[in-house]
Amino acid sequence: MIELLDHIADLRATTDRCRAGGGTVGLVPTMGYLHEGHRSLIRIARRECDLVVVSIFVNPLQFGPSEDLDRYPRDLDGDLAACRDEGADVVFAPTAEEMYPHGTPVTTVHVAGLTDSLCGAFRPGHFDGVTTVVTKLLAITGPCRAYFGRKDAQQLAVVDRMVADLDLPVIVVGCPLVREADGLALSSRNAYLGAADRRAAPALYRALFAAAGEARAGERDARRLVATARRILDGEPRITIEYLECVDTETLRPIEHLVSGALLAAAVRLGATRLIDNVVLESEPVG
Ligand code: AMP
Repeated sequence: MIELLDHIADLRATTDRCRAGGGTVGLVPTMGYLHEGHRSLIRIARRECDLVVVSIFVNPLQFGPSEDLDRYPRDLDGDLAACRDEGADVVFAPTAEEMYPHGTPVTTVHVAGLTDSLCGAFRPGHFDGVTTVVTKLLAITGPCRAYFGRKDAQQLAVVDRMVADLDLPVIVVGCPLVREADGLALSSRNAYLGAADRRAAPALYRALFAAAGEARAGERDARRLVATARRILDGEPRITIEYLECVDTETLRPIEHLVSGALLAAAVRLGATRLIDNVVLESEPVG
């Protein structure tokens, strides 16, 4: 039986009880409208933990004033069914009033440096909203394993560093990026795409993977790899590039010459919809 909780005290009591009995807790933080990407995180948590908690909270703090907070897709019934299917034990779906009873919090968490580039450069304040809500969710859940997708590679790097810097009693688990059959990275925001934009969207995947192919074949010059991806994106008139960068996976600093642990990351716009994607570039030629 899956339990739906919307009060902080109830989640705390449930996770405390699990740990008191010697069990381990897994937390999968989400904003809901769950798809196969989220489900894969829940499945990994299910394999590794005794109590699996999925949080569903569209966190107002991480949306800019002109962003899509009001139209962000929501479907609690569908999400509950998905969580039940994947064997989660608890869905924690608090209201904004429960999470922020005093309105916008005056205490926030800021991870410097790592949040300046990529999405951070285009979404001012976004990562402070993310790190603040994730810190709250971790404080409420208590010691646990917390599951994050590599789809949001910058978010994963930021949360990883935050947990290390603040000695939070949490093991951060990075999980593989899940794609549609045509390569498009699964995202709740894909629901915004009209038919023509949906047809155009996989160009983002093709661009990144064309560059990854060149890297595998031995290309080491990051500028050339970026140029390959840019050519493909430029060939799709519906797509506007926000950023397209080759960075170190951990520091997120730009790299010029490929070494191990390089990430090619991009954000693009298709009409009003913003999509992000990334690929890890292998530095060793195969074969
Ligand atoms: P969101 O609901 O978009 O905030 O995402 C919640 C979690 O699911 C984050 O850790 C995301 O990185 C992860 N996630 C979202 N889409 C995917 C995907 N296509 N593959 C793997 N993980 C994903």
